[in-house]
Amino acid sequence: MATIQLNNVTKIYDGEVKAVYNASFTIEDKEFIVLVGPSGCGKSTLLRMIAGLEEISDGTLFIDEKKVNDVVPKDRDIAMVFQNYALYPHMTVFDNMAFGLKMRKYPKNEIKKRVANASRILEIDAYLDRKPGALSGGQRQRVAIGRAIVRQPKVFLFDEPLSNLDAKLRVQMRIELKQLHARLQATMVYVTHDQVEAMTMGDRIVVLKDGIIQQIDTPLNLYNNPHNLFVAGFIGSPTMNFIPGILQFGESNEFKSDGLTIELPPMLAANLKKSRSSDCTLGVRVEDVFDADMDSQKNLTAKYRMTIEAVEPLGSEIYLYLQADNGQKLCMRTASDRTYHRGGIVNVAFDVDRMYFFDAATGNRIGIVAS
Ligand code: ADP
Repeated sequence: MATIQLNNVTKIYDGEVKAVYNASFTIEDKEFIVLVGPSGCGKSTLLRMIAGLEEISDGTLFIDEKKVNDVVPKDRDIAMVFQNYALYPHMTVFDNMAFGLKMRKYPKNEIKKRVANASRILEIDAYLDRKPGALSGGQRQRVAIGRAIVRQPKVFLFDEPLSNLDAKLRVQMRIELKQLHARLQATMVYVTHDQVEAMTMGDRIVVLKDGIIQQIDTPLNLYNNPHNLFVAGFIGSPTMNFIPGILQFGESNEFKSDGLTIELPPMLAANLKKSRSSDCTLGVRVEDVFDADMDSQKNLTAKYRMTIEAVEPLGSEIYLYLQADNGQKLCMRTASDRTYHRGGIVNVAFDVDRMYFFDAATGNRIGIVAS
């Protein structure tokens, strides 16, 4: 069992830098939770407070219902894997993995058994006599993970463990870490700035910005139901399109932007009206932008005339980068069997059921239609 509970956990460095502010959430037993956000948002600080490597300025932290604010790292029954592996270069792989257990005076046989077991799981058993310098980046990262596994901790903490690996290896290790999680049935907290890593690995994701939690949700809920403009823009690649405009309610209910007027479906209009927002931002994902002259079977908004600035054929799909006369940019995803050319005109339109609206002042999502 290992649940982690944070109540208004705050970190203020040097009496002025608010690195994490009022973080409150519970990490369930055996959960794989990802802390994600841009550089400097406070995710490492949050992880380091859970590890006990950083003092908590305010609030309380519980591991398994025991308050641990003042418990030193070695007594928290957690293991941390760092981005730079932190291996001892002069020790063999075996000794690197065994080091923590030796320090804790485990019997030799037990150490051997645990290292053998962990190295088999991680497929590094053939390299136990090598030194880290004679290993690839991926193998070194496995040794670092192995060192955590042999401790059999209640909680694993990962601080951007894959960012030093090349793209292909990162994808492979991502899958391996998820398999490891399933196998070990341990609680894992994983920090990354990469939203794709977060989406593919997390049972739930905590999105942070400027030290403040923006949303805690499953990957699909974050994607389909973002609570604010920041989350909507941060999750998803290419990023969601944003168009500034105003909402007008009366005889007809409309979203209006320069060169674009969209009539709002009645239920959405009723919900948007409740928010009393006028200035807003319309958000549309790239897969919800259509070529109105070719995709007429869809339930689409009014047409929006745009010029093709760039065409990106990816094989399985095409991305079009478009610009309206007023400079508004837009990206759309379309089928790979179509032909588009730079400089051509596309009349785009949006799926009426897949539009997001955000209050211009607060960035909060408005007009959520209950499903
Ligand atoms: P992230 O991991 O999301 O990149 P960090 O948790 O490292 O963010 O940092 C959050 C904020 O706290 C940043 O503004 C950073 O500059 C600041 N910070 C981090 N560590 C220290 C420190 N030891 N002293 C002062 N400020 C720090």
